[in-house]
Amino acid sequence: MKIYSPHQTELWLTCPIKRRLVKAGYRVTLAGKRDLAALLGIGWAAGLAEYYSGKTERYQKAIAAMEERRKELQVPDYLRAQADAIPKRLEAGLTSYADPLPESWRIVEIETPHPEEGNIRPDLLVHTGSELVPVDHKIKINDQSSREGQIGYQDILRYRDSWQMYHQARLCKRLTTQLPTAYFISRTVLEPRLTTTLLTFPMDEENYQRWELSAERVWRQMEKEDEGVEEPWQAATHHDQFGPCEFYDLCYTYKYHDHLAAERYFIPEGDG
Ligand code: SF4
Repeated sequence: MKIYSPHQTELWLTCPIKRRLVKAGYRVTLAGKRDLAALLGIGWAAGLAEYYSGKTERYQKAIAAMEERRKELQVPDYLRAQADAIPKRLEAGLTSYADPLPESWRIVEIETPHPEEGNIRPDLLVHTGSELVPVDHKIKINDQSSREGQIGYQDILRYRDSWQMYHQARLCKRLTTQLPTAYFISRTVLEPRLTTTLLTFPMDEENYQRWELSAERVWRQMEKEDEGVEEPWQAATHHDQFGPCEFYDLCYTYKYHDHLAAERYFIPEGDG
């Protein structure tokens, strides 16, 4: 059985057709809010990888990683101010970043790819003194989604029992034979005041085993699609918290006719 990365798996779980389109190389020419959120996340991860490596060019690395993706996108006028603010936000966040990890923890790996586990690349693997645990960085501009008295409530719902983090726990188990007792999200909110909180999510062996059974079924299905044995199916809905799926027009308006969709979608040279 082939093991797929958390990114590929999440894409498949969102919509198997969408994964097929991304795999074929399709990109949108016009950026949406989803792309801007991704740009901020890409820059943040690159900046913190530099920070935890003890190097000094965190802002430059963050901007370079972000620009690499941004140059493929045209930003529409209504999103231009938001896009132009990303470098400043990254600079402010990375300059004032306060490490939330306990001093006694030891960094073991920083963004190290693991081909044996679907090329998974955790932001950090850390030894707490008793076990190896994954830590994932998340960034948000502000925290409008929290309920009164519960900071980050909506995010806690989003991150708890997440497939991505279960997969990172699986990697820790592969490396040490011991399932971690928890995974951690280092969550930074930029505005109105920069705060970084380390969120702890306990890991339960029974829940983990149920996840693993599901994940392995999904990976087998993905493999069948990649081998051309089965065709991908479509998602039940075509929107998320950012709005319509970025491939909505390709699927429903242009019905996969590339010549009609050429203004909205492209395949970078060499990707098709
Ligand atoms: S529009 Fe619907 S079917 Fe097409 S990729 Fe998006 S979610 Fe999948």
